[in-house]
Amino acid sequence: MFNLIIFGPPGSGKGTQSIKIAEKYDLVHISTGDIFRKEIRGKTDIGLKVQSIIEKGELVPDDLLIEILESAMNKHINAKGFVFDGFPRTIRQADDLDQLMKKMNNDVTLVLALEVNDDEIISRLLKRAEIEGRKDDTREVIENRINIYNNQTKPLIDFYKKQDKFQAVYGVGSIDDIFNNLCKVIDKYM
Ligand code: ADP
Repeated sequence: MFNLIIFGPPGSGKGTQSIKIAEKYDLVHISTGDIFRKEIRGKTDIGLKVQSIIEKGELVPDDLLIEILESAMNKHINAKGFVFDGFPRTIRQADDLDQLMKKMNNDVTLVLALEVNDDEIISRLLKRAEIEGRKDDTREVIENRINIYNNQTKPLIDFYKKQDKFQAVYGVGSIDDIFNNLCKVIDKYM
């Protein structure tokens, strides 16, 4: 299996690039943000539990994440691999993922980061707020999400560097140029 984590701050283009990668390499795209937004729209138990957390830009509790991820993966038992988008976001989640992979006799193959500076991120997210009206795209919540990313998610860079799985690509430019640069790295690991 080829299991890829697309890594980067909020607004770095993980969703856009994940969809393209999943299509090109025939992998299953799993976006935890999309899963949660669907649960919220459906007013499910999970949706009701996470709604206020997400609207504040905070992280959903780790316990819930691995559960959701495992059930999303179990829907695709014949997958050639996965593109994880928005997960893991904490060291605990990365540990949980390693364990889950082990249980499935698998491994995280590669962690690919999109490098985008804070100013660019803030301006992209504010633009997305105008277009999509996501409740977690207000300036205050955006700043909270960036702080949480810096404090809780960035430590994963070292976590995966130690495993020799971390690669980064510059995430500013045209969608296609960035995609091509990502593919060049992926092809080396295929
Ligand atoms: P973005 O990448 O733009 O920050 P996402 O769509 O990936 O947004 O996620 C939206 C929100 O869903 C996050 O701000 C967080 O509240 C919640 N969420 C998504 N994935 C996770 C995760 N792995 N751990 C905790 N919370 C998460």
